[in-house]
Amino acid sequence: MDMQQMDMQQQECDIAIIGGGMVGALAAALLAPTGLSIRLIEAKRPTEFNPEQPQDLRVSAISATSVALLEKAGAWQRILDMRAWPYQRLEAYEWQGFHTEFSAASVNCDYLGYMVENRLIQLGLWQALAQYPNVTLDCPNGLEALHQTESGAFLTLAHGQQLNASLVLACDGAESFTRQLAGIGISAWDYGQRCMLISIEADQLESDMTWQQFTPSGPRAFLPLGKEQGCLVWYDQKQRIQALAKLDNETLAEQVMANFPPRLGNFKVLSKGSFALRRRHANQYVKGRVVLLGDAAHTINPLAGQGVNLGFKDVAAIVDLVSQGAEAQLDIGSVERLARYQRRRRPDNLLMQTTMDVCYHAFSNDILPLKILRNLSLRAAQHSGPLKTRVMKYAMGL
Ligand SMILES: Cc1cc2nc3c(=O)[nH]c(=O)nc-3n(C[C@H](O)[C@H](O)[C@H](O)COP(=O)(O)OP(=O)(O)OC[C@H]3O[C@@H](n4cnc5c(N)ncnc54)[C@H](O)[C@@H]3O)c2cc1C
Repeated sequence: MDMQQMDMQQQECDIAIIGGGMVGALAAALLAPTGLSIRLIEAKRPTEFNPEQPQDLRVSAISATSVALLEKAGAWQRILDMRAWPYQRLEAYEWQGFHTEFSAASVNCDYLGYMVENRLIQLGLWQALAQYPNVTLDCPNGLEALHQTESGAFLTLAHGQQLNASLVLACDGAESFTRQLAGIGISAWDYGQRCMLISIEADQLESDMTWQQFTPSGPRAFLPLGKEQGCLVWYDQKQRIQALAKLDNETLAEQVMANFPPRLGNFKVLSKGSFALRRRHANQYVKGRVVLLGDAAHTINPLAGQGVNLGFKDVAAIVDLVSQGAEAQLDIGSVERLARYQRRRRPDNLLMQTTMDVCYHAFSNDILPLKILRNLSLRAAQHSGPLKTRVMKYAMGL
């Protein structure tokens, strides 16, 4: 039988995961110890790491809970061996003097979180997967068609293979084709804003701290990526960001100096990129044997850096339920089991989306009484003791 005939053969696996990004790869790595046969299907191979590479623009603030999940998956040390940067303090303010600061020391932790390039999280997980003979990494490949019956899902892949699976995890991001093929609708709206990521280099960065200043046209934020490297995040009206994106790096640096707080000192712009801000929420997380996780299920305003951390919580929930099923030798994709996943995750994700939207709208206007009120709130929050600790622990996922 030649390769092509083999490819055309009907193949079987217990779990097909569509999308081998951060969320899909974490799901594969945490499900691998169950011994179930897993096929991780990813369209695009990430570029290998090389320490000489400049930092990618796409970085995520990873919470302590996410770090623990990556540790459990056998990926965290591999990520640290490439690059990751811890931060110990977080500050949010509008007017100087009316701010809220959170610190790791106040909750007896060494760090609040880590800034990590998305690609390195993915690479660390892919490296960890190599030790499992029951996981097949199928890349480049993609999903072309999906058909479901009560007992299983039948997938047609881009290379023509036919694959039967008991469970399909859709981890193929915000525009999820798997979600569309499964016939799951979403509610979505545009924030009418874009966000620009600007990679910078400087001598005197506040490298242990991430801060966010709210302005009526949108927040301005700083994410530390090293002693002398960082990433600026500039939220603004679409037209303004589009105009900024056309500037050369020197002129953009002048615009940053005029529009960001002076605490940055002297810096040089290394690279930039911009992203649309869109909230999406799938109307249901489960249809038959297809389950949505991560951005395929929800996208959120990146204001508080919670996106992938919520996706990792989705992974933890489905891994828990599937592992229980596998151990008891029950159907891993049964209706009851998957309904429990949706009940666990959808309300939590909805609450976080809504909280982010309330913050975003409360701070993105120039109405004087509201301005005074929100600055007083930030100041009150700074002195709110136990409440502040609870908020911080929630953001850290503790
Ligand atoms: C500007 C910005 C800043 C952000 N900052 C933060 C932050 O600080 N902290 C945080 O937690 N989150 C942040 N996020 C959100 C975070 O980036 C996302 O939540 C995260 O990338 C979602 O991961 P995912 O694996 O679900 O999806 P993705 O990262 O989109 O991965 C999907 C994968 O599926 C693959 N794929 C797609 N279609 C197919 C197909 N048909 N077949 C096979 N493979 C396919 C893709 O190639 C990709 O590898 C930010 C988002 C934005 C836009």
